Amino acid sequence: MIDLCSREPNPLLTIDAALERIKATIHPVARSETVTLKNALGRVLSESVYSPINIPHDRNAAMDGYAFSSQDINPEQTFTLSLAGASWAGQPYKGHLQPGQCIRIFTGAVLPPQADSVVMQEQVQANGASVLFPANTHSRQHIREAGEDIKQGSLLCAHPKKLNAIDLGLLASAGIYELTVKRTVKIAFLSTGDELTALGQPLESGKIYDSNRYTLSGLLNDACYSVTDMGVIADDKQMLQDTFITAAKNHDVIITTGGASVGEADYIKEVLDRCGEVNFWKIAIKPGKPLAFGKIGSCCFFGLPGNPVAVIVTFQYIVAPALKQLSGAPDSKPLQLTATCTTALKKSPGRQEFQRGILTQDSNGEFFVASSGKQGSNILSSMSRANCYIVLPTECDGVQAGDKVRVELIHDAKII
Ligand code: AMP
Ligand code: MG
Repeated sequence: MIDLCSREPNPLLTIDAALERIKATIHPVARSETVTLKNALGRVLSESVYSPINIPHDRNAAMDGYAFSSQDINPEQTFTLSLAGASWAGQPYKGHLQPGQCIRIFTGAVLPPQADSVVMQEQVQANGASVLFPANTHSRQHIREAGEDIKQGSLLCAHPKKLNAIDLGLLASAGIYELTVKRTVKIAFLSTGDELTALGQPLESGKIYDSNRYTLSGLLNDACYSVTDMGVIADDKQMLQDTFITAAKNHDVIITTGGASVGEADYIKEVLDRCGEVNFWKIAIKPGKPLAFGKIGSCCFFGLPGNPVAVIVTFQYIVAPALKQLSGAPDSKPLQLTATCTTALKKSPGRQEFQRGILTQDSNGEFFVASSGKQGSNILSSMSRANCYIVLPTECDGVQAGDKVRVELIHDAKII
């Protein structure tokens, strides 16, 4: 593949090729731990969970009305039953329902074993202890059978599911209060660069505030990850080396930003050659070309570019899938949509581009996307305004307004 933009002599790696190489070298965390259901949101199940009970537990009413036995139905004609009592949600009718009897029943209340049908309260005429049922009364209506949702012993959630809010509700409905989940992935992250200034400090000429670490801490906010913010490390070989060796001892992953290209002050490569096995790849994407990946002992190392937008793109498309694999969660693909681009986009062939866009959907369900502004890899404002990437293929040489383009949502963005 030729990168016409940079006249790169070496072939560039596609995202898929880079991911394939990364995924071949990493293994999901092995150890599991027990957590309470309350603490299980976003964790990855390491064992499938089966229901110890039927759900619903008992046959119960789906409506407020009157419960009775279908044996008492008088086909095609009205019939009268005598009222024997009532069943409330949480306070079942305790008596034995005799032929010719019915009970008042409320939604969620258990039917007596002799009853199998409910009629809505609006359809009967109750007159003291006598209840008149309509001629078209059907059997087995407005009831929820025991086990109709989940049968006792059947699967509730299969491992390695990453548990969401709905799963928590499902598991709670079966009375599950503890689960076995994969342990968290321990991730250390840091910024490198002499120009970086901590928030709260005045900004001297030539310096910038360290934004990448804040972006990364947000992107790493996931129940499957335990993160350590290692701060800013100056462009100093000894300090970088000491930091990497210390972090590698008690983390599964180290993520750095900056210093990964071949500038005078880009020491990451030299330092890593001394303490681990790390490859430096040029990925055929824009933004985000330089990427370091390798191992320091058993710890995975991701050296991301310094430019803030390149950090976000390489994180989403390369680091996040690798972290997901490490966490034991199933692989997933970003949703891809086709949208009509309402602005012209500049592009040269050679690299796949992730341009920032604003995706909208009209009342007919059609998707439209517009550029969110300047596309430089340092321009965070257009990234913040965007909700999607306009993904332009390698060979594309620009887009005219009205062209169809492929879009993918940014991280956890929504359509506005
Ligand atoms: P580098 O790869 O170190 O040459 O950095 C590339 C560009 O990204 C430079 O303009 C840096 O100033 C910028 N940069 C590096 N690290 C950060 C950071 N933590 N936050 C914001 N910008 C950064
Ligand atoms: Mg730097």
